[in-house]
Formats: sequence, C-alpha cells, structure tokens
Amino acid sequence: MSMTAEIKLDGTALREFETSFRGQLIRPGNGSYEEHRKIWNGSIDRRPALIARCAGVADVIAALGLAKRAGLQVAVRSGGHSFPGLSMCDGGIVIDLSLMRAIRVDPETRTARTQAGALWGDFDHETQAFGLATTGGIVTHTGVAGLTLGGGIGWLQRKHGLTIDQLIAVDLITAEGELVKASAAENVDLFWGVRGGGGNFGIVTEFEFRLHPVGPTVLAGPIFWPIEESPRVLRFYREWIADAPDELMTIVIHRKAPPLDFVPAELHGQLVVAIVCCYAGPLDEGAKVLRPLKDFRSPVLDLCEPKPYVAHQGMFDPSFPHGRWYYMRACDVAELTDDVIDITVEHSMRIRSPLTTFPIWQMGGAVASVDDDDAAFNGRGAGHTFNITGSTETAAGFDEEREWARSFWTALEPHRSGVYVNFLMNEGTERVREAYGAAKYDRLKALKRRYDPENLFRLNQNISPT
Ligand SMILES: Cc1cc2nc3c(=O)[nH]c(=O)nc-3n(C[C@H](O)[C@H](O)[C@H](O)COP(=O)(O)OP(=O)(O)OC[C@H]3O[C@@H](n4cnc5c(N)ncnc54)[C@H](O)[C@@H]3O)c2cc1C
Repeated sequence: MSMTAEIKLDGTALREFETSFRGQLIRPGNGSYEEHRKIWNGSIDRRPALIARCAGVADVIAALGLAKRAGLQVAVRSGGHSFPGLSMCDGGIVIDLSLMRAIRVDPETRTARTQAGALWGDFDHETQAFGLATTGGIVTHTGVAGLTLGGGIGWLQRKHGLTIDQLIAVDLITAEGELVKASAAENVDLFWGVRGGGGNFGIVTEFEFRLHPVGPTVLAGPIFWPIEESPRVLRFYREWIADAPDELMTIVIHRKAPPLDFVPAELHGQLVVAIVCCYAGPLDEGAKVLRPLKDFRSPVLDLCEPKPYVAHQGMFDPSFPHGRWYYMRACDVAELTDDVIDITVEHSMRIRSPLTTFPIWQMGGAVASVDDDDAAFNGRGAGHTFNITGSTETAAGFDEEREWARSFWTALEPHRSGVYVNFLMNEGTERVREAYGAAKYDRLKALKRRYDPENLFRLNQNISPT
C-alpha cells in the first residue's frame, strides 16, 4: 500500500514505517475506511489521510513519529465517544488504539491493568468475573481512556470516588515519542495532570486501577412517573437524597418513554420522568433506603430490582447507540433549587425527539471527600451535573434538538457552577479554562509547556502551552 498521495514524506521513510507497523493502516479508498472513520456521534464527518490502528505501544510510537516527520495533525482515538468528535480529524493521522483492549485483573491485590483501547463493557466483564469493579462509564461502549483522562463519573462514584480516584498509574507516550510512567511515586506532576487534563500531555497506552468488591448483584434500575408529576418528584427527590448514604447513586432522566419490551405499550412515546438508582451495598439495606422513593405517588413503572451489576451498566446502551446525531450542553449546579427544578420541568415538557434523553447526575459522596488539589479534575463540590443531550436518528430535526439543548442550558445560566470537561463540545478556550478554574488551568498550562510545548496533542479540550 502506498500512502504517498496524501502523506508527503520520502519514499524510504514511508516504506520503513509501512513494513514495521504491526496493526492496520487504513487510508481513503481502502475497503474499511468508511467504517473506521466513523465515531460514536453520527453528526461528525471527517476524513483523515490515515488511520493507524495500532497493535501495541511500538505502533503508537511509530505512528506518532510518522505524523511528526510528515507534519500531520494528530488525533488520538480510544473509544471514539468524544461528543464533539475530537478523536477524528480531517486530513491528518488518527492514532487509533481500539485494537489494544487487553485487560489483566489481579484479584489478590484488587487491581487491573488495561490497555487504552478497552471499553467499559470489556473492563466490567473482566473485573466482575472476580466480583470486583471500579467507577466507570454508564454506557458499556464508552472508552476507558478518554473517560478516565477527563475524570470519570459513574454509578460507583458516591461510594468509591471518581474513576481517577482509582487510578494507580499510567504509561504514556510523550510528544517526543518517549514512554514515561506516572503515578503517585513517579512523575507526580504528570500524574496530577492526566487525572482530569485529558489527552493534552501524551498518548496513554495503559492504565492501572484499584478495584473494589461490587455485587455481582446490585439493587438498581429506573422508577418512572408521568411528566406531570415531575415538579413533585424532583422536590421529593431533593429531600430524599439530602441524607442518602454514599452507597446510593442516582440519575434523573426526562424523555419520551421508548418502545422497549419492558415498557408498557400505553407509555410508549409519552414524556416521563425517571429516577434511576444504583445501590452499591447489601441488597436488604438498599431496599430500605429505596422504599420511600418506590412508595412516592405510585410510579407508573418500577424497574429498580436486584440485577447483575453488568446488566445495570448496560442499561443505557439502547438509549445512546452509535451513529445517531447527538448535541450536548452541560453544566454543574450546586443544588436543585425551586428555580432549577422549574427550568428543568419547563424544558423537559418541550422535548420533541423520541430519542432525546438527558441525565442529571447526583454528585457528592466520595467524590467530594477527596482533596480538590489532588488532581487536575475540577468540580468535586458540584451537587448535580446536567448533561443536556439532544438526539436524532439523522440530520432531520437535529437543528431543533440543538436549539432546545442550547436554550435549556442558557436558562440554567444563573445557576451554573462549572462544567465537567468530558461533557464539553467545541466551546472554545474560555470554557476549557472555566472547566478547570483559573488556578488549575495555569498549572496545566505549565505542565503542557513541559510535556508538549509544540501543542502536538491539540485535538482535545486543549490547554494551549502559550
Ligand atoms: C454514550 C456516552 C456515555 C458516556 N458516559 C459517561 C459516563 O458514564 N461517565 C463519564 O465520566 N463520561 C461519560 N461520557 C463522556 C466520556 O467520558 C467522553 O466522551 C470521553 O472522552 C470518551 O472517551 P473515549 O475513549 O470513548 O473517547 P475518544 O473519542 O476516543 O477520545 C476522547 C478524547 O480523549 C483523547 N484520548 C482518547 N484516548 C486517549 C489516550 N489513550 N491517550 C490520550 N488521549 C486520549 C482523544 O484524543 C479525545 O480528545 C460518555 C460519553 C458518551 C458518548
């Protein structure tokens, strides 16, 4: 295969690269190019000059070297779930880690090492074989890498903390093409930066995590009410979670009830509010904690019951499949005040697309008990995280959903207290700075100057070195 058409480099250097690369090299015209340039968000349509599907660390180093010699823009792809499509580029090279998915669990030390291309479904599958887990994404096909590098929120966060709070060490390839390790004992500044600072400092090829006994059966699932009940449900919910134990984690959903088997036919297409729960503790204790919610104003559907943790982890998969068009605006709020509830109800009533589902995450618990200076991640004090996601099957109706998400987010403006960096779209430097706060942003910039002064890794929520 010759790549000279798009990549300007002398023939010998290119041939050397092609022959030494162990994974797959995919370029325009190649049979699987269309498949591999797709990422989760169907609204992203980019055409890289080369997709280098790396088989291992040596391939990552070689692909990065090629990009530098040929002056190509670099995109790094693991799970491909970046909302704004930051893992795909036009004309440059995609260093694609999706073939690198090996995971090794050590049940004795309760740790797991995972290659960066693994998805949360892979990770949970391996760790739950030993009754273990760590805080991870709530959709199984989300990448371990991008999620972790931004912070990582999930069902276990209130009990065990963020995903980064479970991180022991990373292997990272720097802009110089060198392998460095970062942990609490080695390259401590870098370890601070990768726990929230995204892909700004290099390509992480491997993560090591702490694990915790979880399940394998947990009390979990959604409880639904008609949307008209939402003002009362949200006010009750606010009181109910005020003194909830850290084992309980909840997400509020407003959407049109999907036509799924377990949803009664009369609810299909009707706007509903749901409180989705996960109790990461003994089932009988969970049942007591959940009783008041289950008794509140006769829910129309109660699917909160004992189930395998991995089944609960897959619960949102049908709501967020690959290829749909997604647009998102996000923010944290300190609390669900009456104003915030009113804005939420008003905008939920205006949901048009049957595919639009937006989560409001309960924060706090163990997330808030870690010292804020411990990692680059910002926002441990948030009460709730709004993830206002509009979605359509194709471009049809997408503009309206995007406008709905924007107007909802704008209405929340007086109540916004920050934003989780992994929930940003392409919103510009000021928003990235807002996500980290001024002090952390300055510290991240200094770190960026040390590890990536040329800003080679800039397709991310970028922290510019200058
Ligand atoms: C359906 C869905 C569900 C989600 N659920 C959650 C959730 O439960 N909790 C949560 O916290 N977030 C969640 N998110 C947000 C998620 O954390 C981010 O979208 C994250 O960036 C996805 O990681 P990825 O590896 O799949 O993405 P990718 O698109 O592959 O990468 C995202 C960004 O990270 C960089 N990157 C990827 N891999 C590496 C690497 N190995 N080294 C250096 N940089 C890298 C990329 O360059 C890009 O800038 C969800 C997103 C989606 C779409």
